[in-house]
Parts: sequence; C-alpha cells; structure tokens
Amino acid sequence: MKIGVSSCLLGNMCRYDGAHSKDQFIVSTLKNYFEFVPYCPEKIIFSTPREAIRLVQEGEDIKVMTSNTNKDVTKELSDISKKCANQIQEDELCGFILKSKSPTCGLERVKVYQNQNAPSEKKGIGLFAKEIKEKYPLLPLEEEGRLNDAWLRENFLMQIFSYKHIFEFLKTNPSSKDLVEFHTSYKYLIYAKSHEAYKHLGNIVANHQKRELEFVLEEYKVAFLEAISLKGSISNTYNILLHIFGYFKKLITKEEKAEILESIDEFKDEIIPLIVVIKLLNLYTKRFDIQYLKVQKFLNPYPKELALRSTVKAYK
Ligand code: SF4
Repeated sequence: MKIGVSSCLLGNMCRYDGAHSKDQFIVSTLKNYFEFVPYCPEKIIFSTPREAIRLVQEGEDIKVMTSNTNKDVTKELSDISKKCANQIQEDELCGFILKSKSPTCGLERVKVYQNQNAPSEKKGIGLFAKEIKEKYPLLPLEEEGRLNDAWLRENFLMQIFSYKHIFEFLKTNPSSKDLVEFHTSYKYLIYAKSHEAYKHLGNIVANHQKRELEFVLEEYKVAFLEAISLKGSISNTYNILLHIFGYFKKLITKEEKAEILESIDEFKDEIIPLIVVIKLLNLYTKRFDIQYLKVQKFLNPYPKELALRSTVKAYK
C-alpha cells in the first residue's frame, strides 16, 4: 500500500538548511505497513541548501517570498506543486502525510508574515498541500505533528485502510450483491462515525431508482470516502458496542453479561482502551460463530500490531 510523504519526514536531507525532519512514528512504525513515496517540491526547483522561504500577505494575496532577499517565488513554487500533485494520481496513493508548518507542505496554520513589521499569523496553507487538497478532496491527508494525537492517528489510519479497500473492491468489477456485502461489512465502522452517513450509503445501495450499477458504484464510492473521512466519537462507539453485545446477550450467563457491560462502561468513562472491549466481543463472536459480526470491519479495521486502540486517548 503506497502513501505519499513529505520527503524530509523520511530523513532525507532536503530541507532548506540541508537537514531533515525525520519522524520516528513514520520511519519506525508505519514503514512496516506502507510503501513510502517521497515528495519534495522545493528541492526539485531550488536544490539544497537554499534560502528559506515564507508566506507573505500582500493585500488580498498570499505570496511566497525568500526570507532574506525578498524574491517572489510564488509562480515557480505553484507550478512545481501542481506538477507534483498530478503525480499523486499516477502513483496510486492511499494517503499523504505532510510536513507541518512548511510554506510548501503545511496543511494548516502555516505562518503568514505581514509586509509591515506586523506579527505573523498562523492562518496559511502550504502551496503543495493546497494543490493536493483541491485536486484530491477525498484523499486521506494529515500532518506528522497531528499524528501524535492518538485520536487523529487512529482515525487517519482507519481511513487509509478503508480507502484502499474500496478501491480494491471496485477493481473486482463487483455485482449489486457484492456491494451489499461490502456495505454490510462497514456497518459498525461507519456507524461509529455517523448514523446519517450509513443511512445515506444504505439508500444508494438500495437503488430505489433502479439506476445502472456503474452509477450506483460511483455514487457509493464518493459517499463512502466522505463517510470514512469523518472522525469517530466515544458516544457513537459506545452505542455500537452495546449493539454488538445485543447479538449474544441472550446466549451468555448473567456474570458474563455483567462483565461485558462493565467493560463497555469503562471504555465510555475512559478507564480502559477500546481494544480491551473489542477483544471480549471478538471472543464471544467466535464462540457463537456469529457470521454477521465476523465480517465487521469495525472489529478488525487494520493490522492489530499498529496498536492504535490500545490507549484511552484514541477516542474522544
Ligand atoms: S517540508 Fe516539504 S518542501 Fe520542505 S523540505 Fe520537507 S518535503 Fe521539502
């Protein structure tokens, strides 16, 4: 599975000062699951080392200027950013991790300097990041800094794995029945993000207007990508856990019931991480061989070794 990464985050010495910004989580953990495709628009046109650049407010416009010599490099940087963004489609990426704060790669809150000695404001977006966002609004995107937040990290990686899954699924030339199966397997994962989104997807699958399958699949793809870009919440997840519990509550003892319900409550109260409850639910799912639950992506959304649900901070 390929993801794009700002090259300096991989340890490549492509920063303006000839250094790198290696990110440990990316190079140590994510490297086991992804093939990285490095991008550095600045290095292509300015080489390394080079003069630093920054975003500068000029009237209504935001320009890119060199920091010391004050040269306007907006056009060059914008052209190369467009070129690099076009490359993403050819590289068939499932997501992109961008370097924060950069006037080229920063996704949000990049410093914008004022021409008249006024203080800078954190309100900009890097030129390359802007191109990616505009060209691929549904591609999973995050900055390396935000991935230190367990909640954003879990949501982002779940999004990437689901993103890859739907594109693989669509390549298999699926039938309507296949679409129903695919949709069913995402029921609880999407419910944990938004009930409305799952309902909307359900209406597309039901295809009351009897449209050609090709159109249904295209509409489903867009709505699915929108749904997986939403963030999950503790309260939605809590409801899902109770739902799943409902499948075997009549099959287990009073003590077992009490134990599961206590775990679900402890998850809600941020005492134990979600993985503990999931382990329990998976155990009963296997014990009673409940096929409907066995295929639910919510219970196994990505390789468990990523351990993204092993902290209480992964849910808000
Ligand atoms: S932030 Fe982007 S443009 Fe700057 S060095 Fe890193 S990859 Fe290159």
